[in-house]
Amino acid sequence: MDYKLILQTIKNEVAALENTGNVATYIPELAKIDPSKFGMHLNCISSGEFNFGDCNERFSIQSISKVFSLTLAMTLMGDELFERVDVEPSGDPFNSLVQLEYEQGIPRNPFINAGALVISDILISKLENPKKEFIEFVRKLSGNPSIDINESVFNSELSNSFRNAALVNLMKSFGNIENAIEDILDFYIYQCSVSMSCAELSKAFEIYANSGASFNSEEQIITSRKTKRVNAIMQTCGFYDEAGEFSFRVGLPGKSGVGGGIVAVHPGQYTVTVWSPPLNPKGNSELGMYALERLTTLTGLSIF
Ligand code: GLU
Repeated sequence: MDYKLILQTIKNEVAALENTGNVATYIPELAKIDPSKFGMHLNCISSGEFNFGDCNERFSIQSISKVFSLTLAMTLMGDELFERVDVEPSGDPFNSLVQLEYEQGIPRNPFINAGALVISDILISKLENPKKEFIEFVRKLSGNPSIDINESVFNSELSNSFRNAALVNLMKSFGNIENAIEDILDFYIYQCSVSMSCAELSKAFEIYANSGASFNSEEQIITSRKTKRVNAIMQTCGFYDEAGEFSFRVGLPGKSGVGGGIVAVHPGQYTVTVWSPPLNPKGNSELGMYALERLTTLTGLSIF
C-alpha cells in the first residue's frame, strides 16, 4: 500500500476544496484559532507513520478527551459503570438537556457532555488526585511527558460553562452525581483543555487499534474486551448526532472534538488523526471528515 502517495493525494484534494465550516465560538478562546490550519497523521501498526501539514502543532482536543477519561474509568471500575451511563447513540446535540429529563438523569452515552460529566464524577470519587492522574494517563498513552492543558482555553471554558453546569445540576437532582458540582466542572473542563498534536493523538490511540496495548509495548493498558467496548462506543456515539453519517462515509470508530480534531481507529491496522478547525453544522471538522472518507476509500481499509 502506497500510504505516502495516498496522503499526498488527500493533501492536494483538501487544498482544492473550499472550507465552508465555522470555527467553534461558544468557548471564546477557540474562536481565535486560524481556520486554515490542517494536519493529518497516519500511524500504521506495521507500515510506519505518514503525515502532512500542521500535524505536529498542538490544538485543543476538547471532546476527544472523553475517550481517555472513559478508558481510565473503565480501568478502575467494572460493568457497574454502565448503570450510571448508557451506551446508546443520543441522536441529539452533545450538550442537550432534553433527553436527560426524559431518561431520569442517566445520560445516553459517555461521549455526550452529560455522560462525560458522570465519568468525571466517577474519576473524582475513585482517584486521589484526579487532574494529575488524568494528565499522567494521557502522557503515558502518548509517550510524551510534556503534554499539558492550555490554561487560556481552560479559563475561557470555565467562565462560559452554563450549559454543562445545568447538565450536572439536573443529574444531581436525579441522584446520579456524588461530588460537588464545581469540582466536576473543574475536572471536566480541565480534561477538555488538554492540547495535543495529530501525531501525539495517533500515538495515544494505539491501544484502541491493538487490543489494549500500545504498538511496541507488552503492557496491557486495558483488556481487549474493554478495548472492544470503547471502540463500539466510538463507532456508535463518537460524532455527536452525526455518528451514522461518519460510519456511512468513513467506516471507522473514532471521536471528534469542537477544536476541529478527529481521531479514528482501524483495529489491527492503524490510528489516524486529522485537524481542521472549521466545523460542519453538526460540530464535526468538515475537512477532517472529508480527509478520513478519502483515506478509507483510497486504501480500501475500513472496518466494513
Ligand atoms: N468542552 C466542550 C464542551 O463541553 C467539549 C465539547 C466537544 O468537543 O464536543 O462544550
